[in-house]
Amino acid sequence: MTRVLGVDVGGTDTKAAVVEDGGVVLASRTLPTPRSPGGIVDLIAAEVPGGVQAIGLAVPGLVDERRGVAVWSENLDWQDVPFADLVCERTGLPTVLGHDVRAGGLAESRLGAARGIRDVVFLPIGTGIAAAVILGGRLHAADGYAGEIGHVDAGHSEPCLCGATGCLEAIASAAAIARRYEARAGRAAPTREIVAAAQDGDPVAAEVWEEALDALTGALAWLASVLAPEVVVVGGGLSRAGDALFEPLTERLARRLTFQRVPRLVPAALGDRAGCLGAALLALDYLTD
Ligand SMILES: [Zn+2]
Repeated sequence: MTRVLGVDVGGTDTKAAVVEDGGVVLASRTLPTPRSPGGIVDLIAAEVPGGVQAIGLAVPGLVDERRGVAVWSENLDWQDVPFADLVCERTGLPTVLGHDVRAGGLAESRLGAARGIRDVVFLPIGTGIAAAVILGGRLHAADGYAGEIGHVDAGHSEPCLCGATGCLEAIASAAAIARRYEARAGRAAPTREIVAAAQDGDPVAAEVWEEALDALTGALAWLASVLAPEVVVVGGGLSRAGDALFEPLTERLARRLTFQRVPRLVPAALGDRAGCLGAALLALDYLTD
């Protein structure tokens, strides 16, 4: 029986799980994320139990999986951290570095909402928007640059944190919906309340929500045209809007597409465990490849 440690480093929390073949979780823990890369290596070294044969580590930002280097994270303020080597030197165990969204996508495609499907896009919509692209059953990483669907042009004139103008993320992320509603309504509300208010006919909420839905439909139409996924697994905070999100998005996308394959839009099944499970899968793959 093969046993690995999967670790998912988030902006606030870090999840660690001991996982066996087939994604069976034996134990898991959530801890506050240390503020430095050295602190993260210390945390992993402290969490490795006996019997573990490899470590999978998923981190946010720009990640070069091939070299095992976390190239850049705005959130955690690091640059060019060779995590795979650092963790391996410290623990003596082979360590595979992955990207949090791509690891989550791998887990959803093998163990979650897109199990058994070969062409999948995993689309978490939260503070930002990114995608994991799985084609023919394989993750497409492109040295860490693939999947930045949040930064395609959605045809508006608002600035994005990336420095460009008009990005999808600046109009359709959960954070953008909350920010845009506050700017127009003059009061702050959680995204969930804004979506509910839009359903109840609040004109400001409805306008912000409609604009987000239109931008998401455009991005999904682009994905359907270029990659033709069979399934798009939508995760992140916004997916908790449930039918209020999935029904209009499914309907608009079907209307927008003509000859293309219309992807099924399904909610993520693994929730915030996806990244950690995906990290463990990377380590299990390393041992069996
Ligand atoms: Zn951007």
